[in-house]
Amino acid sequence: TKPFPSDIEIARSADLAPIPEVAATVGIDASHLIPYGPHVAKVELDVIDEMRDLPDAKYVVITAITPTPLGEGKTTTAVGLAQGLARVGRKPVLALRQPSLGPVFGVKGGAAGGGYSQIVPMEMLNLHLTGDFHAITAAHNLLAAMVANHLHFGNELGLDDIQWRRVLDVNDRSLRHIIEGCGAKTDGVTRQAGFDITAASEVMVIMALATSLRDLRERLGRIVVGFTKDKRPVTAEQIGAAGAMCVLLKDALKPNLMQTLEHTPALIHTGPFGNIAIGNSSIIADRVGIKAGDILLTEAGFAADMGAEQFFNVKCRAAGLTPQAAVLVATVRALKSHSGRYEVKAGKPLPEGMLLESPEDVEAGCDNLRKHIQIIQDFGVQPVVAINAFPTDHPSEHDVIRRVAEEMGARCAVSTHVKDGGAGAEDLARTVVEACNDEVHFTPTYDFEDSLETKIRKIATKVYGANGISLDPAAAKALAMYTDQGYGHLPVLIAKTQMSLSHDATLKGAPRGWTLPVREVRLAAGAGYVYAICGSMMTMPGLSKSPAAMRIDIDADGNTVGLF
Ligand code: ADP
Ligand code: MG
Repeated sequence: TKPFPSDIEIARSADLAPIPEVAATVGIDASHLIPYGPHVAKVELDVIDEMRDLPDAKYVVITAITPTPLGEGKTTTAVGLAQGLARVGRKPVLALRQPSLGPVFGVKGGAAGGGYSQIVPMEMLNLHLTGDFHAITAAHNLLAAMVANHLHFGNELGLDDIQWRRVLDVNDRSLRHIIEGCGAKTDGVTRQAGFDITAASEVMVIMALATSLRDLRERLGRIVVGFTKDKRPVTAEQIGAAGAMCVLLKDALKPNLMQTLEHTPALIHTGPFGNIAIGNSSIIADRVGIKAGDILLTEAGFAADMGAEQFFNVKCRAAGLTPQAAVLVATVRALKSHSGRYEVKAGKPLPEGMLLESPEDVEAGCDNLRKHIQIIQDFGVQPVVAINAFPTDHPSEHDVIRRVAEEMGARCAVSTHVKDGGAGAEDLARTVVEACNDEVHFTPTYDFEDSLETKIRKIATKVYGANGISLDPAAAKALAMYTDQGYGHLPVLIAKTQMSLSHDATLKGAPRGWTLPVREVRLAAGAGYVYAICGSMMTMPGLSKSPAAMRIDIDADGNTVGLF
């Protein structure tokens, strides 16, 4: 047998359709496209208005069980499922996040799917695409420069505790803490500052949650850059930066249309990190897709307790869209690793014996699957368990997953989309279509009127399965302060590890009898939420000793090599 070609080999030999043809399959006329070469186009926002009276597509989120270093394949499954849906006669539109350059050059590599389920052209997707991340970086740093300038010219607003840092879309640990304003008096005010990665920028989240250009402008104005000595918030509007930021972001607000290997339309837009921000692609892209297609698939980062919880509680409510179903991606390998019987490490070979047939190991990890099914059901949404099949799986192992899903009242299908493309996802596609015909009673975890503390407690207990929360005194004080300042009605986001349902990455399966410790709370008034930090979260990753960047190059024919 021939060896299976690499992702980039498959992507490069793909036969791509001209992007106006892809747009036409879902009723988007070429007059609404701004082409970036033959295979990528931005979509003008006026299509949303033009398609206003069309029916809404079914809104389906792709989520997963708790991640392991092995990768569960949400993106891959989302792409495969879109291809499968097209093959069974539906008009799917896919909405995905744009990958950050940090992981692309770090350890994770690209995020265009895999095998015969990919977004193309994969180099464009994984690198600059249409420059949106650069625009977001520029807008974020413009505000930082104007804050520094405000200090230089006398600090009339009385800024004392400055929270606004700078951003860059590169993993660079040396920039986490810097001293700015070194040099002469004319070189700015000397203070300790630092950089985050662009995917962690509040501007990135604002772009994801903005519902229109006007809404974007207002959210930018509401950004709190810091506080005065008497704890009054100072906003980007007061600094005078919000208008210019909005001008920089005007084109980046238009989603990017690409295609799968089988020409299914895919809207790629924004890319907030899932563990420290809202790990979802943009509301604007979903608004386009929900009118253009008849099923809109969108991926939410990490597992159902993370990206999907944020999707339901924050994104759907901000968008005014009702979710219909959730595809819960599970793999045999990940469930075996949740059994606690194997120690799986990123970049290391699989532990001995892990690929041998063992339905018992799969069963032993299924508490994690059960918990994620229940999380989705508690939102009143239909779960569909998608078994993302690997060549090393055994049918007896799939049977365990199917039985557990059915015992929980969830649908289940096996999908071989990585090996077979859309043809391998037809069963899954039919199952998702079936789930889309069920009635939903969408039930968010908390009401906006609940206190900030209650919101955090409800997420911890109802979603994560904690016994309760413990608030650090400083965190409790900050919650009281934000409530006094009129931010008590905002939703909350929990920044925690994605590697466990708890805050402790080493607790696998479905941990019980634990308390969520809230170390610190912060305000993201422009994005529109308060976030609770549980554990130490990395907002600027570092590179490994041997980053992917060392293997990426240009060959003699000008092709990119080493991107995966
Ligand atoms: P996620 O979106 O959940 O992070 P991805 O879809 O990006 O996961 O997949 C993670 C990695 O695992 C990718 O490199 C992908 O090619 C690989 N992968 C996913 N599913 C399969 C599969 N069924 N067979 C082989 N490799 C897979
Ligand atoms: Mg993904």
